[in-house]
Amino acid sequence: MNAADSESLARRLLAAGYTEDSLDRADVAILNTCVVRQASEDRVYSKLHELKAWKTPERTIAVTGCIVAKEGNDLRGRFPHLDAVVPIGEYDDFLAGLAARYDYSEGEALPPAGRTGVSHYVRVIQGCDHNCTFCIVPRVRGRERHVPIAVVLEEGRAAVEAGARELVLLGQNVDDYRDPGGGGGLAALVREVEKIPELKRLRFMTSHPQDLEPELLEVMAASDVVCRELQLPVQSGDDGILKRMARGYQTRHYRAIVEHARALMPDLGLVTDVIVGFPGETETAFLNTRRLLEEIEFDVVHLAMYSPRPGTFAATKMHDDVPAAEKLRRLNDLLALQRAIATRKTSRWVGRDVEVLIEGTDELGRPYGRIRQGKRAVVLRGSGVAPGVLVNLRVMQATAGQLMGLPAA
Ligand code: SF4
Repeated sequence: MNAADSESLARRLLAAGYTEDSLDRADVAILNTCVVRQASEDRVYSKLHELKAWKTPERTIAVTGCIVAKEGNDLRGRFPHLDAVVPIGEYDDFLAGLAARYDYSEGEALPPAGRTGVSHYVRVIQGCDHNCTFCIVPRVRGRERHVPIAVVLEEGRAAVEAGARELVLLGQNVDDYRDPGGGGGLAALVREVEKIPELKRLRFMTSHPQDLEPELLEVMAASDVVCRELQLPVQSGDDGILKRMARGYQTRHYRAIVEHARALMPDLGLVTDVIVGFPGETETAFLNTRRLLEEIEFDVVHLAMYSPRPGTFAATKMHDDVPAAEKLRRLNDLLALQRAIATRKTSRWVGRDVEVLIEGTDELGRPYGRIRQGKRAVVLRGSGVAPGVLVNLRVMQATAGQLMGLPAA
């Protein structure tokens, strides 16, 4: 979601005639921020401290993103060298101020394609109506606002006409999507978007185990365009902790979804999020999470140590009782476990042919992209393969993070 916000602000700046440059040559520095964890928030403060040496009367520093909803104009008090505090999506006044300051005028809006051209994010829901006890998102992003199907289609078509070949439908809880005009939920939206001519891939994220509808899995399984990847955060493998998190499902529900999805799509790419050290997480509760990871064998697990987020139910009503050293031990234990699982799982692709949508070239000049199941893949010899092209790759090597191979005959 933050990447999509950065992209939309960058497009407007580029349309106004600004160019991207290194910090030492730039006039304007904009920080798009995340506060989902304390560590992300700390990075913002540290960057703002660093920028103090960079700041001159001619230069502008602006902050946007979730920290604005959390801290507001207090940031200006703490960081007097900060020029602008810009709420998410409310860029008009800020851009007008910049235009006056640097004598730029906003030009024609650029097509809504990503700057890399291949993949384009389309926000279909802003905000979240859930109230997971650890999560600050509803506070900083607000309640859900759903984008009409017609608007999503218009943006998707324009992006594809401008060169995008993959669309990624975004929502904090994308499964909750409902067309405000009565046109149906996410499955209906996906069915419409996948018909866009020249579109090769369609992804969506992030799903919620409580709201994911079986119909969506059926649409995925039947489609050549919709990718076989599900981003389905489980957060914990312990029912007691899930209840304290107010996630609205139990592990048996989660297992049932995975079982159904894999019955329809045996090679499904499965990505999840896990928090360790949530208040009340005993060793037994932690081991339940560990068991779930071993059993389900996710492709990717985004692991985080719990950190209390101000204003959330968990921060105000629960005792952060797992010591930091123990959180770290649990995190490292799951990281090592998941690394072994991911290595084992990716090795199963060796010898198979996969379809790769090329996104660019890596530092060694080799084309890379992703397979339909979400894994990154590198074409070992294939210079000249352009971004946006689908390559049929014979996988020859695999690491935990990526596949490598040669174009199949
Ligand atoms: S569903 Fe996701 S975004 Fe919404 S409150 Fe829960 S964790 Fe936060």
